[in-house]
Amino acid sequence: MLLPGDISPQLGGQVRAALERYLARAGVPASAVAAAPGRVNLIGEHTDYNDGFVLPVAINRWCVAVGRVRLHDPAHARSRIYTENLDQAVEFDPSQRDVSAFEAGAWPRYLVGAVWSVLDAVPAGGAAPHSAPSITPLDIVVASTVPLGSGLASSAASTVATAALASRLLGRNLPPAALAAAARHAERTFAGVPCGIMDQDIAACAQPGQAMLIDCRDASQRPVALPSAEQVVIVIAHSGVRHALAGGQYAARRESCRRAAAAMGVPALRDATLADLASAAAKLSEHDTACARHVITENARVLEFIQALAASDLHSAGRLMLASHASLRDLYRVSCPELDTMVAAAAGTPGVFGSRLTGGGFGGCTVTLCRPNAAAELTARLRAAVGGSAAEPPFIAQAVGGVQSWAI
Ligand code: ADP
Ligand code: MG
Repeated sequence: MLLPGDISPQLGGQVRAALERYLARAGVPASAVAAAPGRVNLIGEHTDYNDGFVLPVAINRWCVAVGRVRLHDPAHARSRIYTENLDQAVEFDPSQRDVSAFEAGAWPRYLVGAVWSVLDAVPAGGAAPHSAPSITPLDIVVASTVPLGSGLASSAASTVATAALASRLLGRNLPPAALAAAARHAERTFAGVPCGIMDQDIAACAQPGQAMLIDCRDASQRPVALPSAEQVVIVIAHSGVRHALAGGQYAARRESCRRAAAAMGVPALRDATLADLASAAAKLSEHDTACARHVITENARVLEFIQALAASDLHSAGRLMLASHASLRDLYRVSCPELDTMVAAAAGTPGVFGSRLTGGGFGGCTVTLCRPNAAAELTARLRAAVGGSAAEPPFIAQAVGGVQSWAI
């Protein structure tokens, strides 16, 4: 089996294992592969739904999807998807769109939804679509090394990978931006998650060695070069806490932001200044004022962070990460004791530039920038800080490119 020459040994190993798993399950080899990465957000938290800025990096954890068109005989007329992570399979009639067949919030809505979204997407110009894509049964196996539900965007990795595979198998030839849109459609419409644009955009469009500045107002993207691996490494550590209360709290924070923007008479907090906030403070609760202050200052921090990277000023970049964490903890109030302990442990480690919670908060992961020779001590201290409750140890993340797919 031939894989592209530029594929990393890590991803190559994961792809080979998925292909073997497929062969064992289906009895025939897969005919195509797709892989989409997870991501970590370096800075810019809770800014996305305020029309603000985010700065994610695609990381060397992938969801790999492999499969083929099922034989066109009546015994194989249904599509099926198996996920190795959950050891579960679903079957569905490719010509039907019955989302109610799958439990609300459960994984099939994401992955079956991704296949449906590819069928709904307009094919790229010039590509001859498969003769009858909407009745073509697919057989798909996914296997992900992005931890599920940890704030590293496993949902986007799995939907983008599944969409890319379906696009290839069905002859739809969707470019990365269209795959991101299809994956987002799956998550929003079929899984019912009111997600922003960040996760699918970075999973689909990331460039190796670069972060991506996304302006969530107009969805424009700009690659941002990261310092070399000799200067800095990115360490991701799981707190072992799952964001249990996150749903209601998330909605409440969005409401606070909406009220604050309305009180200041701006379309979104992106448009507000601290002076506007001071003028409107009498009309707002203390909590809403604090939330708005977080968003206004966090947007500014994203832009300052990019300037600091451009100037190779990693100390300033690190200070901005610590300020972001303090703001999320004290103003936006979405941290938790475990995340605070981890950030404090990281900040106290020699060679660390900065550290913060990443993702929505209330659990999930921290992201830390440090000198390469500080990573061993840092990971030891982070491990000690969480006391072994995390599902996996802290790891060094590399900045990888976005979704890829191949015919076998
Ligand atoms: P995150 O995207 O931060 O990991 P989410 O709650 O947004 O967390 O998404 C997690 C959900 O995405 C899982 O509960 C599951 O429904 C779906 N998912 C992600 N990866 C896979 C996978 N490999 N197989 C099946 N479902 C997956
Ligand atoms: Mg997600």
